[in-house]
Amino acid sequence: MLLERERCLVAQFGRELVRAGLTAGTGGNLSVRDPATGYIAVSPSGMGYDAVTAADAVVVAPDGSVVDGTRRPTSELAMHLGFYAARPDRHAAVHTHSPAATALACLRRPLPAMSYLVALSGRDTVPCAPYADFGSQALADAAVRTADGCDAVLLASHGLLCLGADMDAAFQLAVQLEFCADVYLRCLAAGAEPAPLTKEQMRRARERFGRYGQPKKET
Ligand SMILES: [Zn+2]
Repeated sequence: MLLERERCLVAQFGRELVRAGLTAGTGGNLSVRDPATGYIAVSPSGMGYDAVTAADAVVVAPDGSVVDGTRRPTSELAMHLGFYAARPDRHAAVHTHSPAATALACLRRPLPAMSYLVALSGRDTVPCAPYADFGSQALADAAVRTADGCDAVLLASHGLLCLGADMDAAFQLAVQLEFCADVYLRCLAAGAEPAPLTKEQMRRARERFGRYGQPKKET
């Protein structure tokens, strides 16, 4: 099977998405790129995660043409392709409809530096992209443009997208940012903005996470 390892990861981490409470029903999608060929294994459109096997994952070329697979690729294929084109150093993408991150995206607010864990995104703040129709090229363009090198971006009135050097990193980022968004909303519900970490504190957090020295723009 072409890209068997990557397709297994798509099936395995799809089930993890459900188990971790990061999506509901068939919402969200994920992909893994094979650096050697540039081909990308993506989740199939509209299938329950528990039913998806490695063979159901679809292999596409960077231009989106299907290379192998019998299913239709995820409706957000353009967004995945856009990020891989923009980020040659990232080889996995996880798009969630997780409740807290989505609530923040519905408020159209970025996730600020309220916890050192936000630094896992590679930036001080996770930005929120403007609303565009789901599955549209406009959404893909807005998400890539707004992320601007950040490993995560909120999608207005929709959800969250996280990138990683590999699937484990992208998935862990989605888990940690969902936690941060939940805590942030609890702070707002308590009637106050949480104390922001300073740029220096966030820089040290990134350094401790092993990201120091990477060409990331400060925000
Ligand atoms: Zn979505």
